[in-house]
Order: sequence, then structure tokens, then C-alpha cells
Amino acid sequence: MRATRATRALAQLYEARPDAALTEPEVETALATAGAPVNKVTVYRLLDRFAAAGLLHKQVDAARVTRYTLAPQGEEGVAPRFECDDCHRQFRLSQGSAKVQTALKQVLQALATAGHEGLAVDIAVHGRCADCAHPAEGAAA
Ligand SMILES: [Zn+2]
Repeated sequence: MRATRATRALAQLYEARPDAALTEPEVETALATAGAPVNKVTVYRLLDRFAAAGLLHKQVDAARVTRYTLAPQGEEGVAPRFECDDCHRQFRLSQGSAKVQTALKQVLQALATAGHEGLAVDIAVHGRCADCAHPAEGAAA
């Protein structure tokens, strides 16, 4: 299918230009050049799919032009999570994670500057989830 080919071409495009902040027309042109011509609607759909998967960041610049940049790698792993020690369910913590990520990025950047490589952060909060800690209340709610 042509969409599969375009998906691969899009991934290769950002692989080759990791710092690129591309607009839809620029991506459309680049895909055509790469031998995977797709129409505007398909390009938007591809970009949105990549953004939804966390591979690309969608941003609107000062001129109100939507640009797509490669999402920083490892960001997903930086998101703190909570793990229940009883039932071992995991919960992603979205609240306050922006601040944590900003702080961690500075730490990672400092380590990278010092020459360390392959850095990954995993933050997990352990405890008992609401269901395990208060079974009766959980059932009532
Ligand atoms: Zn639990």
C-alpha cells in the first residue's frame, strides 16, 4: 500500500533531518521527492498519526503555521508512573509531570554535557492503589 511506503518515507525524512520543523507542504514535497507521493489529506493524516504516537510534536509557530518536529527521545520514559505493590497495576501520572520532565531534562542535559551516553530515567512511585487500599469504598464508588 502506498500509505505504508509514505509512512516509511516520513520516518526516514525525520531520521535524516532530526532538527527539522516541517510544515505540511514541505513534508508533501519531501515525500514526493523520496518517491512516495501522497496527497495533502494523506500527509496530514500521517503527520497526525505520528503525533498521536508521540513520534512528532505538532506546534504552531508565531506566523500561525503548523510545524512538525521530532519528539525528544526518551520523553515517554520520563513520565512518572505509579505502581501498586498489591495488584501491580500501573498508572501514568500526568498531573505535575511537566514540571518533573523539565527538571529531569536539565539533569539529563547536564549528564550528556559531561559525556555520559544512553541515559534513561524511570520514575516510579510505589504504594497501594485506591482499590487495594480501600476495597469497600472502591466498590461503593
Ligand atoms: Zn492495587
